Formats: sequence, structure tokens, C-alpha cells
Amino acid sequence: MPGSEWQLVVGLEVHAHLKTRTKMFCRCALEYGAAENTHTCPVCLAHPGALPVPNGRAIEMTILLGLALDCEIAERAVFARKNYFYPDLPKGYQISQYEAPLCGRGRFLLPTEDGEREIGIVRAHLEEDAAKTVHAGGATGRSVGADYSLVDFNRGGTPLLEIVSAPDLRSAEEAVSFLRLLRQTIVELGVSDADMEKGTLRADVNVSVRRAGEEGLRPRWEIKNMNSFRFIGRAIEAAFRQQVEAHEAGEDVEQSTYDYEPDTDRLAVHRSKEEADDYRYFPEPDLVPVEPPAELVEQLRRDVPAPPAERIRRLAAELGFAPAAELVTTGNDGKADLLAREGLDPKTAAAIAMNRGDFLPENAGALARIVEANVTREALDEAFASAAKGPIAAEDYLSRVAVADADALAPVIDSVIAAHPEQVETYRGGKEGVLGFLVGQVMRETQGKADPKAVNQLLREKLRG
Ligand code: ZN
Ligand code: MN
Repeated sequence: MPGSEWQLVVGLEVHAHLKTRTKMFCRCALEYGAAENTHTCPVCLAHPGALPVPNGRAIEMTILLGLALDCEIAERAVFARKNYFYPDLPKGYQISQYEAPLCGRGRFLLPTEDGEREIGIVRAHLEEDAAKTVHAGGATGRSVGADYSLVDFNRGGTPLLEIVSAPDLRSAEEAVSFLRLLRQTIVELGVSDADMEKGTLRADVNVSVRRAGEEGLRPRWEIKNMNSFRFIGRAIEAAFRQQVEAHEAGEDVEQSTYDYEPDTDRLAVHRSKEEADDYRYFPEPDLVPVEPPAELVEQLRRDVPAPPAERIRRLAAELGFAPAAELVTTGNDGKADLLAREGLDPKTAAAIAMNRGDFLPENAGALARIVEANVTREALDEAFASAAKGPIAAEDYLSRVAVADADALAPVIDSVIAAHPEQVETYRGGKEGVLGFLVGQVMRETQGKADPKAVNQLLREKLRG
């Protein structure tokens, strides 16, 4: 049977560090990048007799997120002990929520080119993060092959929000879009920085396949602790290929944990036995259940901002769906809006916002004038660099206008064409992407003084002739 009959089934478990001032069950400060083991106390180091006290702000943030995801907020949530042994877990258990999470069933509306997709949310709960193990020596930075390992307990006890999606995602692209927009939602709620590079956002990816029309789910592979959108997409595609291969060869596909290996673009069984799925959950005897007062929930409900998806829908009308989604998902639409209000046409404003760094809102007017004046790239770079630091004056940049004159640019363009016969050949062979390289060469020759738009057009004309 052809492979096209196979359908991809993906669900995500997303972990985000909450942006509270202190840890989940003690008053140690949370500080990214602090010297190792400087934010610890008897509670987060699990000294005998130390008792946890829940962080009220973390509970509020979790409810806020739950409301934004249309979740049912529990009248009674229960913390539980999830027992397992690992050097970064001094208590021998993680305090989490199991049978009674703070946020139950919800949904996330994902805008797509062809309308809206509803992705189910199974639950969102609150737990504490483990400490951080650093493996020294060895080539891979993993425990296997390391000379020794060190533990930094600063991270131990950080409030962690876990969001579990239903297995409703149907392609790698859709899973990544969902995760990116969920991330932006979390950031806009102000509950987490959700920064994958800093480790404040991680995702476990569950992948299975089934025949189109098939009911129920086949065994899934779990790819844990992913921290790159690109690798998540590639891992999902690799899992799809490998599972289809296995099913078609009549092999057993068992539920198991896998690692994605970028070098081979394949998944390999995770080599660790301590993660047996028997955590012996039981209610945490040192904590009373959380019963959020109805007034608090209602007040938080009023605090939920409009979702980013709404802005994508609105902007798609004038920018097209893909640019609108990209602009909002990367959190750049606010910048674009400031520039558009100052008179830049929406598409130019969007392109500038995507490609330029943040600036002080008070500089939007000056920047719009500078962009409209078509100044050199150098001048634009300088203007944006200064606009992030303090007030700027458009007049300081307006005289440095980019060269758009065909007569002035022609000799440079001719010499670039003459110097790169191979690229010219490739372009004429149909690979339009090479044009960017040639434009870049002209920009370099003119030290950024040429107008890229004019260069682009002149190059096209010359190469056609
Ligand atoms: Zn502590
Ligand atoms: Mn978890």
C-alpha cells in the first residue's frame, strides 16, 4: 500500500518555567545565570523535616494560562508525589499534579491558511522543575561517556507549567506552528519568557501513525526535552518515516522513548533505564489541596488578553496569511503597527519589523520617515541601532539617500555579472534564489549605498537580456 495512506498523529507536552520571583515551594530567588548553587535552602535541597509552602503567584499564573486556553479550572487541585530517583532530584520525588490538575480540558484555536484548526488541550498543571545536571568531559555533553557530573540546585524547585495537547496535530509543520503560537501566547500572558535557548521552554513530542480512516491510536514514540523548533519538525518527520517503514515491514512498533539524532536525521531508542513508567504517584501529604476562590478565577478571567490568533486573522487580510502569522508569532506585529501608524504602508512596516530589532516607541515617527526616504543600508542600520537606546532625529539620516539611479549602478552591476559567471548560469537555469547572492555582491561593492530594490530590478533586466 502506498505511504500516502498513512496519517501522522502528534501530541505535545510543553514545559514552561513560570516567571515568578521565587521558587515553587520555598522562598529562594529565581535568577537565570546566577553562580551555581547560590539559590538553595533546606526546602529545595530536601533536608529532613523541611516543609513546602506553595507559591500563590505560580498558582495564579497557571490559572491565567488555563483560562487563556479555555480550560476548565478545577475547584480542587491536588499536588502529588511523582517518585523516581535521579541525582538532580534530592527528595526522590517531584511534586506535581496528577489526578487533579489545576486546569482540565481546554482548546487552542490555531489559524491556518484554510481557516481555523481546533487543537484540544488535555490539561495544564503545575509542578516543580528538577535541578540541573552538567556532564563534564566526554564528547556529547551527555551522561554517557562523561568523566563526572555536577549538579546545580539553583533550578531545583522552579515552578513549571506543563501543558498537554491532545493528539490532534496532523503534520510536522502544524505541530511547530502550534508550538510557536502557544509560546507567543504564554509570553503575552506574562507568565513565562518561554525561551528555548535559555531552557525556559521545553517540549516532549509524542508521535504515532495510523491508516487514514483508522479509529484509535497505535503505540507512540516519545521524544523528550526538545529545545529547538527546527529539530522538533525534523524529529517528527523522521519518526513518521521510521514508523511507516516498520509498520509496512510488519515489525512491532512499541511505545518507547527516543532521541533525535540530527547527524543521521533518525530517531534512536533512548538509552536510559531509570525512567521506568511507574512513579507510584500519591497525594503529597505535606500540602493541602488548592481550592482557587471563584472571585479570583473571575478576576483572572478579566485579565486574559485577546489571543495572538485574533491579530493573525486581522492582519492576514492586508498582508496575506503566512506573513501575518510569522509577524504575530514572532511578536513583531507591535513594532509593525507603530511604524504603520506613522504612515508606512503595512507591508513595508511588516518587513521592517521582521528584519530589524526593537526600538523605543517614541522613535517610530522618525524611523518611518527614514525608511520612506530610502536611505542607505548603512544609515538605516545606524538609525535602528540608535533608536533602541534613546531618542533619534530623522534629520540626522535623511541626507544619506541610497543610490537608485540606473546609470550610476550599471557599471557595478556589469562587473558583478562578469565576476560571477557560474551564479549567472545557475540563475538563467531557473534558480531564482541566486539573485539574492548577486544583489548582495552589488551591495558590498557599493558599501551598502545602493538601493536593494533598484539593484534587484536592474539585475533582473540585465540577466534577462
Ligand atoms: Zn529553596
Ligand atoms: Mn512534567
